[in-house]
Amino acid sequence: MEIKKVEYRPLFINGKWVEPKSGMKKDVICPATGQVIGQYALAGEEDVADAIEAAQKAYDDFWRGTTPAERSSLLLKLAEVSDDHVEELAYLESIDAGKPISVARGEAAFFSEILRYFAGICRMPEGQSAQEYNPGVMSLIRREPLGVTAGITPWNYPYDILGWKLGPALGAGNTSVIKPASDTPLTTLYFAEITKDILPPGVLNVVTGSGGVVGEAICSNPHVKLISMTGSNETGKHIAQVAGKQLKRVHLELGGKAPVVVFKDADLDALQETLRDISFRNAGQNCGHACRVIAEAGIYEEVVERMVKIAQSLKVGDITDPSTEMGPLISESHRQAVDGFVKRAVSAGAAIRTGGESIEGSGFYYRPTIITDCNQKDEIIQEEVFGPVVTVQRFTTEEEALYMANDVSYGLSGSVWTSDVKRAMNFACGLEYGTVGVNSHSYQALEMPWGGFKDSGTGADMSPYSIEEYTKIKHIAITL
Ligand code: NAP
Repeated sequence: MEIKKVEYRPLFINGKWVEPKSGMKKDVICPATGQVIGQYALAGEEDVADAIEAAQKAYDDFWRGTTPAERSSLLLKLAEVSDDHVEELAYLESIDAGKPISVARGEAAFFSEILRYFAGICRMPEGQSAQEYNPGVMSLIRREPLGVTAGITPWNYPYDILGWKLGPALGAGNTSVIKPASDTPLTTLYFAEITKDILPPGVLNVVTGSGGVVGEAICSNPHVKLISMTGSNETGKHIAQVAGKQLKRVHLELGGKAPVVVFKDADLDALQETLRDISFRNAGQNCGHACRVIAEAGIYEEVVERMVKIAQSLKVGDITDPSTEMGPLISESHRQAVDGFVKRAVSAGAAIRTGGESIEGSGFYYRPTIITDCNQKDEIIQEEVFGPVVTVQRFTTEEEALYMANDVSYGLSGSVWTSDVKRAMNFACGLEYGTVGVNSHSYQALEMPWGGFKDSGTGADMSPYSIEEYTKIKHIAITL
């Protein structure tokens, strides 16, 4: 696999490319080859302060006074430019995040759909109608932007999650400072380049560098009014603590440990088709990852066999080949972490039905893995592995299935598979997850919220609910 080196772009502050004051850079590694494919700038605290100052100035000087129609039209232009460069964006996302090119193409195309959705929704803010609640005084609700918002994004869906953060932020009238994950800065930087003549200076700023320096500096800056972060629970809890010192608003989209509860009367062909995608999409580095299949006793062995068949027949490998279904893990250290989970599961008594090891050769590939014979309290059931590893457990009663499904600290996405409508509805109500599928899993629509219960986060991305995250409400009382 031949991967060309990519152009270096430093920090994007106030509409210009600027070198970090430290002059420091770090390598970008392609997960499919392990080779260095470029460099990105390591911002420091001063650079972050400059980016936030530019965002604040743009907000105060002109952006807060723009109309929804003006912002909508700009978002539509951004979407169009992204579409014009969809091939370059897909290529960069593919080599940076290790996504098969066909998958990266789909995600790059979806980004502009995200912006188009927010271009529409930002023109119809909801709210109460103005009226008198006491004689002679009229009350009205004004929905206002927050000011400078920050988007801190993860490495698993760098470009689409940029859209989730940028669409509602700009649409609602805020300016934005984005910090992409250190492993995957390329598409965010490229987006800043292709849109620099569309967005006025300071409205979008991109600062690359480590979470420990750049992320901390963003979270502790008093001018930033909202931190919207997608990432791990550990980082999310830390950010909430730092932001809490200034009572800053925090929107967190964190990890998952999704259950897939399968009853005897389920359509197993439909289940198999869905899990072929969602259990191994992005090599399992997916917050809605269907990683815990919980099957009724009578069909348990058949479900295990079907999962093994999926895992053994997936096309894993060359990310430049359009027929490849699964690429590598993001880094060697992450591959070691995934393997550690698998090895500890085996030590605890679990059985590996297929996979369970790295794939030799260049890149950070791991075999699609199916594990059985686990106990509910085992680490492999309780903790997010974030790799192509799926466990299959057995249940006998409906109560037991619901207990097993809910007995984790996460609450992002879960599903139930059955042809009994009454049971499906009861189960859908009982599952403690922000998104519940009935004969579907991790189904997303831009019009619908995506957010976690329990340790999976606070607030929602997408849908009109996400606009609420990026706005505040004011009561104005007018004596008539
Ligand atoms: P992560 O390590 O928590 O990093 C997420 C972002 O936070 C990165 O940009 C990271 O920067 C930054 N960060 C790290 N330390 C920070 C600090 N002290 N202050 C501020 N920012 C800091 O997560 P990840 O490994 O990139 O992403 C995987 C996780 O994201 C998984 O748990 C997955 O389930 C979750 N996720 C959730 C959703 C959802 O919608 N709920 C979607 C996708 C992913 P560096 O990269 O520089 O460390």
